Amino acid sequence: MSSKSLPILPGATLGILGGGQLGRMFTIAARTMGYKVMVLDPDASSPAGQMADVHLKANYADEAALQQLGGACAAVTTEFENVPAASLIALAKYCRVSPGAEAVAIVQDRSHEKSWLAQNGFATAPFALVYGEGDLDEALAETGTPALLKVARFGYDGKGQARVNTREEARAAFGEFGDQPCVLEGFVKLESEVSVVLARSDAGECRLFPVAENRHDNGILDVSIVPARVPESLAGQARSMARAVADKLGYVGVMAVEFFVAGGQLMVNEIAPRPHNSGHYTLDACVTDQFEQQVRALCGLPLGDTRLMSPVVMVNILGDRWHDGGPHWDALLAHPAIKLHLYGKEAARPGRKMGHFNVLDADPAAALLLAEQMRDAL
Ligand code: AMP
Repeated sequence: MSSKSLPILPGATLGILGGGQLGRMFTIAARTMGYKVMVLDPDASSPAGQMADVHLKANYADEAALQQLGGACAAVTTEFENVPAASLIALAKYCRVSPGAEAVAIVQDRSHEKSWLAQNGFATAPFALVYGEGDLDEALAETGTPALLKVARFGYDGKGQARVNTREEARAAFGEFGDQPCVLEGFVKLESEVSVVLARSDAGECRLFPVAENRHDNGILDVSIVPARVPESLAGQARSMARAVADKLGYVGVMAVEFFVAGGQLMVNEIAPRPHNSGHYTLDACVTDQFEQQVRALCGLPLGDTRLMSPVVMVNILGDRWHDGGPHWDALLAHPAIKLHLYGKEAARPGRKMGHFNVLDADPAAALLLAEQMRDAL
């Protein structure tokens, strides 16, 4: 990390690698606070590019673009884990970069991530690394069946994953993924899933957002319920484990830890080196939201108050809803305590995250009921 003096104050330019919805919400938060924002993303119509002061339309490994970004910005962060670690290292020659390349390199590859978690004593689902077809038999013996074969790199939202019951199915799935390195995971009987979004400063100060309870549909987050409906002792354990993961990684910035709950115990599923979909509830329900917190951590400002001001349910809006002329926004917007966030994406494809809405209600059960009714009414 460069020795740029901290804190970086409003008026400075901040950079972000990636122009998706997470980059867009970072850009909005940073501009609201008086920073200028430069986005690097090859897509000319990227959600974050639309909101930025400057949009550099180039690849993440483009040396000239990285030089331009690093030269113009006081600090640069990322909105996705698949940014080449080499780009973060290159940028760090010019300006402050957080999170650092080392942490990103661990979590952007499932095999490194799972091995790192196991080595550091964090419980995970049973897993085995698969580098070639010859590893499959031993891997299946390790995990049992059913199991999930997951590509080590570039999988997201349930993509690059296959459920396998037999050796033949595992072989077929491995071949379908193009013989690339994979992780085989035992299929866990989930009681629920929870996640913790947190921020950690250079000095090691940590602020955690309330634990979210997450429901997935087809491997994609559908609904987050906050506060999570789990025993306080389990929520406390999730917070301590998330914090321990951040400390062990020496992480600086906003990150998320997703957990499985099985047999009343927590297992770490995934680490995201960035704000997270399951933290979108913070936009309307917390004193500080996860994107303002990302700005604060990046700029070396004191971290904001993460207090929950109201129970909240977040619902993702996927492209599937566009099939018959588009969602019924009027029904949604008729409710005074529903907050709509759309990402400015032009093409609505099935499974594509187009936006989300937050339902706030002092009664958590009423918030969930209205959220489900609205999701179905859309
Ligand atoms: P991932 O992309 O690995 O986070 O997987 C997406 C979702 O699929 C998770 O949030 C779970 O709902 C489900 N899932 C993934 N891995 C497992 C597993 N080993 N056992 C049971 N469910 C899983």
